[in-house]
Amino acid sequence: MAEAVTECNIKVLCRFRPLNQSEIMRGDQFIPKFLADDTVSVGGKSYAFDRVFPTNTTQEQVYNTCAKQIVKDVLGGYNGTIFAYGQTASGKTHTMEGKLHDPHQMGIIPRIAEDIFNHIFAMDENLEFHIKVSYFEIYMDKIRDLLDVTKTNLAVHEDKNRVPFVKGCTERFVSSPDEVMDVIDEGKSNRHVAVTNMNEHSSRSHSIFLINIKQEHVETEQKLCGKLYLVDLAGSEKVSKTGAAGAVLDEAKNINKSLSALGNVISALAEGTKTHVPYRDSKMTRILQDSLGGNCRTTMFICCSPSSYNDAETKSTLMFGQRAK
Ligand code: ADP
Ligand code: MG
Repeated sequence: MAEAVTECNIKVLCRFRPLNQSEIMRGDQFIPKFLADDTVSVGGKSYAFDRVFPTNTTQEQVYNTCAKQIVKDVLGGYNGTIFAYGQTASGKTHTMEGKLHDPHQMGIIPRIAEDIFNHIFAMDENLEFHIKVSYFEIYMDKIRDLLDVTKTNLAVHEDKNRVPFVKGCTERFVSSPDEVMDVIDEGKSNRHVAVTNMNEHSSRSHSIFLINIKQEHVETEQKLCGKLYLVDLAGSEKVSKTGAAGAVLDEAKNINKSLSALGNVISALAEGTKTHVPYRDSKMTRILQDSLGGNCRTTMFICCSPSSYNDAETKSTLMFGQRAK
């Protein structure tokens, strides 16, 4: 059927975090109204997504509803990307990573790590798996390897099949969920060392965790590859035009540019028409080119604050998500 052919594998999910202590103390209002499984209303306007997660949604529910299937697909040879978009402190890192070593509070990445190995142990013994991970960030359009602090400005190249990749980026072979966690911990501590204020820095850079899975049948030598990009985007908030100057303004412009490049690619893909998709407009979209749209599994989390104080940013975040629908 025509519908199935043009179906686009982009899912947009919206998650609201709870009000935090200081917002409650300040007397902020709780502004979202959760109208249905897939609809939220803010300021009298309704926004529909593939799914809306109200504030009491657990990490496990989020994982089961949206990431679990992607793991199966990547093991089946598909590529995929999961993003978290939203203003600073809206819950992006909570959603993607959560508390890494806490079974209830851990987010999507550690759950994916566990799930991959659970699947593998249950699969055909004649399949041999090679899983490697990379971890890098993009800050001011420079790619920095989080597993090797000496690599601070890596380039994007294309392999012989014209598939883009980050040249020279560290790749670690992993053979258990614990080894994946070790790599994440290592990357995060490198990231801390390199900067003076981690919260500020993480809100201004995109962090990208890549899981690459190759499998080969020992008898038939048949091969299957899939990769999954897990992206914690820089904060989407606008800086006030009057307040920011110099380096801060440059950072803000840069983030704005890369997030709009991403938005343009996603909305071109979501339209489904075979018109030009502007992958080449930013480093991030170039890197993700063969893992976005088409036959790939793409999931975008739209992370929102529920506070009246953030009302304008929340609306703009919801609008960004709508462009992908
Ligand atoms: P971001 O990465 O978007 O800047 P964080 O994920 O760091 O935001 O979230 C900011 C704060 O809110 C953190 O202390 C985090 O633990 C908390 N938080 C975020 N989302 C939730 C949630 N769904 N439930 C409970 N706490 C949350
Ligand atoms: Mg964060």
